[in-house]
Amino acid sequence: MNINKAKRIVIKTGSSLIAGENGVVRDMWLASLVEDIAKLKEEGKEILLVSSGAVALGRQALQFGKKKLKLEEKQAAAACGQVELIRTYQRHLQPHGITAAQILLSIEDSENRRRYLNARNTMEMLLEMGALPIINENDTVATAELRFGDNDRLAARVAQMMGADLLVLLSDIDGLYTGNPQVKKDAKHVPVVEEITEKIEQMAGGSISAISSGGMVTKIAAAKIAVGSGCHTIITKGTKDHPISILKKGGLHTVFKASESPKKARKRWIADTLAPLGEVVIDAGAVEALKKGKSLLPAGVKRVKGDFARGDAILVKTLDGKEVGRGLSAYASSDIQKILGLKSDKLEEVLGFKGREEVIHRDDLVI
Ligand code: GLU
Repeated sequence: MNINKAKRIVIKTGSSLIAGENGVVRDMWLASLVEDIAKLKEEGKEILLVSSGAVALGRQALQFGKKKLKLEEKQAAAACGQVELIRTYQRHLQPHGITAAQILLSIEDSENRRRYLNARNTMEMLLEMGALPIINENDTVATAELRFGDNDRLAARVAQMMGADLLVLLSDIDGLYTGNPQVKKDAKHVPVVEEITEKIEQMAGGSISAISSGGMVTKIAAAKIAVGSGCHTIITKGTKDHPISILKKGGLHTVFKASESPKKARKRWIADTLAPLGEVVIDAGAVEALKKGKSLLPAGVKRVKGDFARGDAILVKTLDGKEVGRGLSAYASSDIQKILGLKSDKLEEVLGFKGREEVIHRDDLVI
């Protein structure tokens, strides 16, 4: 995978790249990253940025110095540092005519279907409008047991959520080595990982950087999530100015290859992983349409069974009870009850809100 081929890219930058040793923002570097992102966007790519650095920058603001922080101190620091982080991005994005959008996510947002859908739709809308979503963990409400824990994993979840085809983890190391290169002099760089095996996981060893929470182990865990969702993952050193341009020119990195496309991975997930919570029975015309690759419209729905929410997995059945496929419902069962048999232009009038045209969009449907 090469960055030029990717269409939707999640870029993650670690705290040590954002804040220098003294906890002050690395302004020139950040400007160069933003410039690289602006270029990617000009090339027509969709970019989401996962940026750490809130805690590191907030330490300075609250004069915590270098001491080890308790959870609530970290959360307080993050609250202050996040403001500075976004302000800095905003300042550098402005000359490129790009609007900064702040997204703070907690783990529930990736696990609860409705929150997941809302987060996803918001980010989709921002991409459509050309803004740059800048994502971080919502540290204020994240508790020790209930958090992504590190932004590598958060970035992987975002990549999964958004169906990205490339995740770039900018780090303080240029990729995976056969051992910890700081300890083992003969450790060799691994340029390509076809499959994340146990052996690969062992290579990652312990944490490498002092300032960042995510060492190579968490990066591999993140790569595993992303690759499993059809998203290739690159780990590269981001410390120098213009980290993305360097990568484009062939800068040293490790790429973890995904074996299938994000679309295929998502369909597999819908077909194999999700437990259906209800069903819709559809007419013969709709069955034909679905087989041709079309979405399921309310007009073709005859009955709805079960109690499910928007975003839940449901079965699609024929009038004589045969399963035609399964998919994610764009409406709650109670709403489908109101709109079944209707033409799409009547939906708003009946529902009182403007929902989607389809009951199940073809991207969310497996036949
Ligand atoms: N959310 C934390 C911050 O912005 C960073 C967590 C991480 O880098 O893994 O400071």
